[in-house]
Amino acid sequence: MKIAIIGAGISGLSVGCYLQMNGFETEIYEKNIHPGGLCASWKRGDFTFDGCLQWVMGSDSGSPFYGLWNELIDMPSVEFVNHDVRMDIELAVNSDRHGNKVFHLYTNINRLESYMLDIAPEDALLIKGFIGVMRTMKHYEMPPMLDNIPELQPLRKKMAMITYLPLVWQYLKWKNQTNLTFARKLSNPFLKEAFELLYDGDEQKLLILTMPLSVFDKKSAGYPIGGSMKFISHIATRYGSLGGSIHYNSPVKRIITNGSAVRGVLLENGTEAHADLVISAADWHYTVFEALEGKFVNQKILELAKNTKPKVYPSVFMVLLGVNKTYKEQPHLIKFPVESPALSPDGTEYRRMELHFYHYDPALAPKDKTIIAASLYTNNSEYWINLRAGDYDQYIKSKTQFAELILDQLDKKIPGLRQSVEVMDVVTPATYHRYTNNWMGSVQGWMPGKDILAASPVDMTLPGLSGFYFCGHWTVPGGGLPPSLKSSRDLAQRICLKNKKRFRIR
Ligand SMILES: Cc1cc2nc3c(=O)[nH]c(=O)nc-3n(C[C@H](O)[C@H](O)[C@H](O)COP(=O)(O)OP(=O)(O)OC[C@H]3O[C@@H](n4cnc5c(N)ncnc54)[C@H](O)[C@@H]3O)c2cc1C
Repeated sequence: MKIAIIGAGISGLSVGCYLQMNGFETEIYEKNIHPGGLCASWKRGDFTFDGCLQWVMGSDSGSPFYGLWNELIDMPSVEFVNHDVRMDIELAVNSDRHGNKVFHLYTNINRLESYMLDIAPEDALLIKGFIGVMRTMKHYEMPPMLDNIPELQPLRKKMAMITYLPLVWQYLKWKNQTNLTFARKLSNPFLKEAFELLYDGDEQKLLILTMPLSVFDKKSAGYPIGGSMKFISHIATRYGSLGGSIHYNSPVKRIITNGSAVRGVLLENGTEAHADLVISAADWHYTVFEALEGKFVNQKILELAKNTKPKVYPSVFMVLLGVNKTYKEQPHLIKFPVESPALSPDGTEYRRMELHFYHYDPALAPKDKTIIAASLYTNNSEYWINLRAGDYDQYIKSKTQFAELILDQLDKKIPGLRQSVEVMDVVTPATYHRYTNNWMGSVQGWMPGKDILAASPVDMTLPGLSGFYFCGHWTVPGGGLPPSLKSSRDLAQRICLKNKKRFRIR
């Protein structure tokens, strides 16, 4: 059976590997000249800029996700860095009782607990509750790894759900709590402000914070030295060694159908490639409305395309700097208030900034130098995408001017920074969109909805179409590498089951 896969991101590569392991003949069609999709890093002069990875869940050998990664990558050969502090949040108004304005979000739960209790003994009960969720969570696989293919769930696995009851209890207790509702309950002004600013003033479910923190505590959300492209290239190499072939520089224009059956893919260059099965590991919106011309939709899909509920993840405007200092004295990730709000041409006003120092990865910069990245998330990505398409010169002017404004702000925070810059690069939502096709430049597919454990809004198949499947981050709200890997593995298992093959890993 011949299978055509669209996209050589983590999902296309992973599903390709598992299918090759199980005797299917697969070919990947990728629009770019290298693999990775959103999981990208690139060279500028002597520097390697990373536009993606900060952490990969499953980096510790005790974690079930490590087992999955190890099926595709020789994990012991990958060096991971684990940070003691997830991020430093500089407050605008309050100081703690020692006069410090910075809240340290420690990755070690015990340390975080004693730090918070020291700052705010009057909030002991609330702090213990918050820490308690993470203590419970750290005993479980996050997210639960039970197969989400009903046919593959033996009774034993269903029974295992009983062991999840303490987690379910915590989940029900905390599912509606947000950083802002929690902040309102706190009495200590410093801690209150810290929780208000966890998401730069935005409101998010607290579980979105506690879930990864419980994994950081286990040192199982490390950063892979060498960055995104190095990590992804392990899987691309594995796919090749399993006999798979990747056609780079081969954008797919259409998925060829005959009535209700898939027949293959048509490339932009006019080449037709026959296939018995087509898997889209590329963007959901592009696949449904461009590659399949909106012919296989139902009411649910049309509602999703309105981007009301759930919404897509924001995109990001990034200013990347190659600098001639290491800035080792700086924490690896800081969030801080800016002197005067920075107004983006897309209309977003930034009163705070997020700055990432990559001094812990010597592979990205020459000796005594490093990479710094400012990330400015935006829900107005269409502004950049439309501007680039409609007026390229103005787009370049706007992004350069805004990047310079950001650099001015950063220079005020870290005096002398501007002078230390050797190379600067700017990434906009239009870059992510153009490079990967992700709808609205979304960095992780759908935002998790009200119920963060809810099933995906997107099915792996489309109504009225046979021989077609989706996998990848658009099939798992919240996205990210590990869920993309898992969705791809699940799909390979499902295809094996349908073809009466025993799923094998080799
Ligand atoms: C700034 C940023 C930070 C992130 N940080 C993290 C992190 O720290 N940890 C983490 O786990 N995740 C992180 N993510 C999310 C993670 O990168 C994504 O969820 C994941 O890479 C999605 O992989 P995918 O293969 O499903 O999709 P994609 O990466 O979008 O891959 C789709 C592929 O399909 C190709 N394609 C699209 N259209 C076509 C076409 N018509 N023809 C041929 N090919 C096509 C694209 O070029 C691309 O290669 C981050 C993402 C961003 C942008």
